[in-house]
Order: sequence, then structure tokens, then C-alpha cells
Amino acid sequence: MCGTVMLTDTHAHFDNAMPASDVAALMERAGKAGVSRVVAVGGDPGMNAAALRVAAMYPGLVRAAIGLDRHCATKGAGVDDLARAMATVPAGQVVAIGETGLDRHHAPETIAEQKRLMEAHLELSRSLRLPVVIHTRDADTDTFDLLESYARQWPGDPARIGVIHCYTGEGPFAERLMGLGFFISFSGIVTFRNAESLRSVVRGIPGDRLLIETDTPYLAPVPYRGRPNEPAFLPVIAACLAAVRGVSVEEISRLTSVNAARLFGWELKSY
Ligand SMILES: [Zn+2]
Repeated sequence: MCGTVMLTDTHAHFDNAMPASDVAALMERAGKAGVSRVVAVGGDPGMNAAALRVAAMYPGLVRAAIGLDRHCATKGAGVDDLARAMATVPAGQVVAIGETGLDRHHAPETIAEQKRLMEAHLELSRSLRLPVVIHTRDADTDTFDLLESYARQWPGDPARIGVIHCYTGEGPFAERLMGLGFFISFSGIVTFRNAESLRSVVRGIPGDRLLIETDTPYLAPVPYRGRPNEPAFLPVIAACLAAVRGVSVEEISRLTSVNAARLFGWELKSY
């Protein structure tokens, strides 16, 4: 695209209470920063509604993922609600299921319920042949066991199985997940001063497995820490990955946008 850096933010959450004018301003800042595509990710009924709303407002720029994250595990919501929500939107607007996953760091006491909810997502994901967006923290063994059986029964394109978002685990675990076919996505955490071990994980990820995300509104990268995150901050994450891997920002942008297009079934542009 003639020197213009085009980036894909593969993971941003929106607040359904945000006025349309604020959403428009945020998307304009993203565009000016070179972020040409955003995956709006759900995780509870409010965030799912917000993701679908923003995807409907910006059909060329934004596509949605809907899911029920681990904090919904004990609240009685079920994946049937997701299938119903999907039936109401235009085909192609929802490109993934999630986020969902396991977290023993924040809620170890609900791990059995979290596992049941994650399994229901994996089943839905398989039946729709849509990739799954996974959160995992302090739950490597349980996460791997569930994803291994998911991967074994995956009926779709092997390149479109899913992504481990906001990866903060160790290198060998990333290797095992990539062995199942997953992409590994890095957030602004890679820019944090104390994230040297995560930066060494970044170095070891093959280019064709790499994605980037902001995880808006959380985890604003350096030098924006303390502020609400937004897709317009993605270039500093791309720049960090470029520096760590010893390649140009353009190369990281192209690579991660092509990978995102493959995973989410978005048409490939000429990057
Ligand atoms: Zn998230």
C-alpha cells in the first residue's frame, strides 16, 4: 500500500454504553494511526452486543467475535444465546467465537464451571467452523487438554482453528499450542519494562503464527500506560515486536495483517 503501514488489531472490546460519536472518534484515530481492521471481541452479553453494534457500524473495518468468558461461568448464561444472537446478524459479520477460556489466577474456585463453558464454545466453534479466541492464564494443562481434543475433531480449514490471545505464557507452551494449529497473539504487555521473558517468547514465534492486538480498553502499552487503551495504540506494539525480532515495522504489519486475514476469513488485501 505504497508505504502506508496497515495494521490489524485482532482483539478490542467495546462498551455498549459508548455514544456513537465517541466510537466514531475512536475509529477515526485508529484509521489515522494506520489500523485498517479491528476484530471487536465479546465476552459477556453486554460486550457481545457492543461488538455486533460496532461491526454493523463499520462493516468494512470491523468484524465481531462473540462469546462468554470465564467470568460468565457461574452466571447461567449459555452458548445457546450466542447461536441465537448470530442468527440475527448478516452473514460474515461474526468471524470467530470468543473470547472464552480458563483463568486460575483470578478465579481458581470456578475452574470446573469454566471448563464446561469453554467446552461448549469449542463445540459451537466446530459446528460453525469458526475459529475460537482463547484466554488462558495459569491453566496450561487444562487449556491444552481441551484444545487438543478440539483440534483433533476440527472439521474446517486447519489454518483457521483459532488464536491464543494476549499470550503471556512460556515458549514451550506456545510451541505446543502452535503444534495444534493455533496462532499466538501479543498485546501491549510486550512493551512493559519487566516483560523481558515474554519478549524472548516473541522472538521464537514463526512469522506465519504471529498476531497482534491491543485488548482495548485494557493493558495500554508503554507510553500510554494508565490510560484506556484503544486500537490507535497498536503501532507501538507493532514497533516493539519489530525491534524484538529485528525486522521493519512494515514487515510486522504486513505479516500480522495477512495472518489475521487468513484466520478470520477476511479477504486478503495487497499489503
Ligand atoms: Zn479480551
